[in-house]
Amino acid sequence: MRGKCLLATLVLPLALAAGCTETESVAGQSARRTPTPTPTPAGITDADYARHVEELKKRLPSREFEVVVEKPFVVVGDGGRAAVEEHARGTVRWAVTLLRKDFFAKDPKEILDVWLFKDSTSYYTHATDLFGGRPTTPYGYYSPAHRSLVMNIETGGGTLVHEIVHPFVEANFPDCPPWLNEGLGSLYEQSGEQDGHIVGYTNWRLPGLQRAIRRGGLMPFQKLLALDGAAFYGDEQGTHYAQSRYLCYYLQERGLLTRFYREFYNNRATDPTGFDTLKKTLNEPDMPAFQKRWETFVLSLAQERLTPITP
Ligand SMILES: [Zn+2]
Repeated sequence: MRGKCLLATLVLPLALAAGCTETESVAGQSARRTPTPTPTPAGITDADYARHVEELKKRLPSREFEVVVEKPFVVVGDGGRAAVEEHARGTVRWAVTLLRKDFFAKDPKEILDVWLFKDSTSYYTHATDLFGGRPTTPYGYYSPAHRSLVMNIETGGGTLVHEIVHPFVEANFPDCPPWLNEGLGSLYEQSGEQDGHIVGYTNWRLPGLQRAIRRGGLMPFQKLLALDGAAFYGDEQGTHYAQSRYLCYYLQERGLLTRFYREFYNNRATDPTGFDTLKKTLNEPDMPAFQKRWETFVLSLAQERLTPITP
C-alpha cells in the first residue's frame, strides 16, 4: 500500500490506435489505497456471485488461476493469489470507488470478469482460447460480448483503470460518443488521487499529440466530437484518443470535467456529441479560438507530471 498520491510508474512510448470495446492500450500507474469494499450492485445478490464464481472455476484454463470477488467485478488471474488479490483490493477497488464518486451512479448490470494474465504469453494464449480470437493489442481490452475485461497485467495497471471506465460508461451513459468514452478511459490510464478524487496525469500520448499540433494535423473539436465509432477507431495513429484525452485533461485542470460530464449527460438528447455543452462549459462562443488556446496549453505540458508520494 502506498500513501495518498500515486506515482505513474510506467510509460510506453507507443502510439497505437486502440479500440475501446475490443482493443485497448496503454500502461501507466496504479493506485494503491484500500477503500472499504464496495457494495453489491443493485439486483445482483451474493448468491449470484457465488454461482458466477462456480461457473467461472469450471472454465479456468489451468490450476494456476485464482478468483477474487471484488464487486462489481470478479477478478481472475494466473500471477499467484497474492498478486491477484493485490490488483483486486488495490487498483480495481480504488478505481471503482473514485470513478463512482465523481461520475458513475450505476454499476454494470451484469457481473463482469477481469482477466489478469501474468505475461504476454499467457495473455495471447489464453485470451485467444477463451475469447475466440487473438488480441489486437498487447495491453488489454474490454469485450462486452464476453462480459470480460482482458488484460496483460505485466504491462501495468494503467490499462486496467482505462478498461474499468468502459463498462461504467456503458451502464451510465449508453450513447456516450467514442471521444468521451475513450477520453475518460485514457485520461485515467495514468492517474492518481488528490483530495479524494481521481486525477489523470500527462502520459505517453502527449508527445505524439504535440507533434500533430505542430504539424497542424488536428481536426476541429466539433468534428472530433461528432465522430462515430468506425471513424474514431479507424485512426491508427491514436490521434483521436490523444486529442480526446487532453481535452478531458484540460477540463480536469480547469476544474470543469465532472460538471461537463453531468451537463452533457443531461443535454444528450439535444446535444448528442457534447459540442454545445462543451462551448457552454467553457463559456466560449469562438471554438476555433479555444482550440488555439488549448493547443498552446498542450504544447506547454511535459510528459511526466510526477506527483510526490505521501507516505
Ligand atoms: Zn478504451
